[in-house]
Amino acid sequence: MADENGYTIVIVGGGTAGWMSAAALARFVPPGHRIALVESDAIRTIGVGEATIPAIRTFNDALGIDETEFLRETRGSLKLGIAFEGWGTPDGQYMHAFGPIGRPLGLVHFKDHWARAWSAGFAKPLAHYSVNEIAARTMRAPDGGRGPAVPYAYHFDAGLYAGFLRRYAEARGVTRREGTVERVTRHGESGDIAAIVLGDGTEVAGDFFIDCTGFRGLLIEQELAAGYDDWSHWLPCDRAMAVPCAPAGGLTPYTRSIAREAGWQWRIPLQHRIGNGLVYCSEFLSDEDAAHMLLAHLDGEALGDPRPLRFVTGKRRKQWVANCLAVGLSSGFMEPLESTSIHMIQASITRFLTMLPRGDVDPAVRDEFNRAANFEQERIRDFLILHYKANGRTGEPFWDRCRAMEIPDTLAAKIDQFRGNGVFRQVHEELFTEDGWLQVFVGQGIEPDNWNAMADALPETKLREFLAVLEQAALDDVRRLPSHMDILARAMAEPEGV
Ligand code: FAD
Repeated sequence: MADENGYTIVIVGGGTAGWMSAAALARFVPPGHRIALVESDAIRTIGVGEATIPAIRTFNDALGIDETEFLRETRGSLKLGIAFEGWGTPDGQYMHAFGPIGRPLGLVHFKDHWARAWSAGFAKPLAHYSVNEIAARTMRAPDGGRGPAVPYAYHFDAGLYAGFLRRYAEARGVTRREGTVERVTRHGESGDIAAIVLGDGTEVAGDFFIDCTGFRGLLIEQELAAGYDDWSHWLPCDRAMAVPCAPAGGLTPYTRSIAREAGWQWRIPLQHRIGNGLVYCSEFLSDEDAAHMLLAHLDGEALGDPRPLRFVTGKRRKQWVANCLAVGLSSGFMEPLESTSIHMIQASITRFLTMLPRGDVDPAVRDEFNRAANFEQERIRDFLILHYKANGRTGEPFWDRCRAMEIPDTLAAKIDQFRGNGVFRQVHEELFTEDGWLQVFVGQGIEPDNWNAMADALPETKLREFLAVLEQAALDDVRRLPSHMDILARAMAEPEGV
């Protein structure tokens, strides 16, 4: 796609996906190429998407973004995991905390030692061996690179993040144009997109196009008909109501996901507001009831009316078609249960950059991109389905249906392996770690009937000692962490010299 004058990449859409793409391309595409972004003031961004997973820090670091400045600019907070309330049982709760649970001993994974001790009745719940969870529950968090290594992510205001990245990208040469795309022109022979045509007739030509137009998938679907795999039979929630409220009390360094009658509610603490939303299935709950339910469960005064959102869970069959790559909601949406959407944006851009062609796109490269993207999306899908399938809310029609649903073979195999032998493995390109799966399995009542045979080699007294040492080490690590609120207060303090 390059000629002697370099190539032009046109990003269509200026939401989180558009500006993350623009910032990453501005940082990594060599000089001599042009990056343009077109966004429409008439079509608003989705305006939600505030919780992330730890990989976001790799993205920000790669861009050279200073964490303190980032937290200040985006009114962000730190996130050590997600508390799931009412999923395993209506009154129970557990955390999917980032970071390791215990540690291996010799060749044996912690989960096998734990499963053996748990079945013998002397292991504590997993939370006792997780630095992240203990820290989160006691409102502590890691301060940048200092202190014990505790993986963390952020909650942030997505609109402010997009604005921050816009400034970053424009300062590095990305040109922004406002306008609504009305038409697309194609090259006759290849079928590649030649240009987008705006409402005022302006043509924006490019060699490569990144479709960040959100659910509408203006280029990837409306023009290139990539197709959509509908997963709503597995991930049945199809609507959300979102409303921010005034903050009340300290900011939890974790997201809360609270199961409700026909879906679940998120609670995401930011410095200036709490983000709240109810994700629900319209077959079981009306929009009106959803709005009431959400408003009845806020910590503080609502800052506006609940905003309805609709979606169909699933993914684009191909993320990359011809000379167009779909990034963000245009590539699919699985719902925000494990905060994976912004991560998928990052994963797509990173994958694209690692395959960035110098010349024409080799179809084999495109195929490999699509294979890897499909694999990653399908494994995330399975992880999300697990939360619904393994719910313990008997007697509630929505949840009863979820428990009874057929699940993908890949997930069924994973559950069988874990239940039967305590076995499961994170394969290459799979996003969620073994410790992540472990916490959701056990938190939602799927316990292993067995464990790795090598675990039995450890005498029971040694096993007891090992667990006690780990538990104490986790407490000691947490004691060395500062309070989450102190970290935020420092980030919000005026920068020196201002
Ligand atoms: P959008 O924000 O919809 O932006 C689309 C852009 O395209 C806009 O700039 C628009 O102007 C432009 N555009 C559209 N059509 C045209 C046109 N014809 N011409 C010119 N420009 C056009 N993700 C997370 O990681 N964590 C979360 O906690 C989370 N929560 C979510 C909760 C809900 C209920 C939903 C629905 C999503 C959530 N997400 C979350 C996903 C997250 O919101 C998105 O991944 C993220 O905002 C990216 O959106 P986007 O940029 O792809 O699309």
